[in-house]
Amino acid sequence: MKITVSAIKADIGGIGGHTKPSKNLLKNVINFVNSSDLLIDNYVGYCGDDIHIIMTHTHGINNKNIHKLAWNAFESGTRVAKEEGLYGAGQDLLKDSFSGNVKGLGPGVAEIEFEERINETFTVFAADKTEPGAFNYPFYRLFIESRSNTGLIINESLSDGVIINIMDVEKSKIAELELWKDKSIIEAALMYPSKYVVSSIFTKNNEPIVASSTDRLHNIAGKYVGKDDPICIIRTQKQFPATEETGSVFNESHYVAGNTRGSHNLPLMPVKLNSASSINFCIPIVEALVFSIHNGNMVGPIDGFATPDWDYVRHVATKRAFEMRKQGFIHPATLVPSELEYSEGYNKKMKLLQDKMKILE
Ligand SMILES: [Mg+2]
Repeated sequence: MKITVSAIKADIGGIGGHTKPSKNLLKNVINFVNSSDLLIDNYVGYCGDDIHIIMTHTHGINNKNIHKLAWNAFESGTRVAKEEGLYGAGQDLLKDSFSGNVKGLGPGVAEIEFEERINETFTVFAADKTEPGAFNYPFYRLFIESRSNTGLIINESLSDGVIINIMDVEKSKIAELELWKDKSIIEAALMYPSKYVVSSIFTKNNEPIVASSTDRLHNIAGKYVGKDDPICIIRTQKQFPATEETGSVFNESHYVAGNTRGSHNLPLMPVKLNSASSINFCIPIVEALVFSIHNGNMVGPIDGFATPDWDYVRHVATKRAFEMRKQGFIHPATLVPSELEYSEGYNKKMKLLQDKMKILE
């Protein structure tokens, strides 16, 4: 029996800003999803202001009814968010109505379908205050860089290399690339996370390992309407990366785009499950939800970033954040103009500047 894991997430409102959903909002989404008979199992939680719905079922990926369930759950939650006056109520529901697939409507989607192994395991990584390309560097460390992952040398499946599908998020095109043959092309693509994003990864014998959300909200809305906080599912153990290899590629708190006003570069800080966003510049955050699964029933999640070693990583991330913010608004602390969330304000200033420009005599 093939099982599908669908992770669908959206920001539909936060308390006092872009922080976290309210108890009533979360409860409403949980009750809505639980009332469905489409699913084998589900888990609902949040990372910062983003609610993620993780569902197991037998309906395959891109299934209209599953997507509709998530959409309707977010719409139901939005009603609560509006009643409570939460900030940004329904902000990720960019279209007025559902049209067959939640992709392109605002919510982020990662889905993976597989024949369950005897001890099937996977980890979901959910991030907030950043963009889909935030996972480029961790994926590089996990599948390409043996300094970070010894499994790339001693695990036969991983050392054979993988198939990586990389999306051009500006043109909505996708390229299938193969390790190790296309290593430098893959690296060149991963270099600019705002344009090229990993959407899925497979073994050479076509077993799915990774599925990741790729939607960029400003491509959908035609203007910047917030960062496109990503979610991904990574199958682990045996022929796939070990769970601890998968977690540790997040231990360097690499710099990502996002943060306050979606306009800065700051480190991606691993945090505990169901954390609010920090109001200290709202440092980008990522959570790790570690699951076992059997016949579609999930056990977990355990909190992948809750052990004491991750307190040290958080400490380093905070220091890296302060270091970057020491240089205020000067790039690369801030993003390039095309990536600024508030580009309209910036462009107005540039127009005033250009009006004052005179050609040198
Ligand atoms: Mg968010």
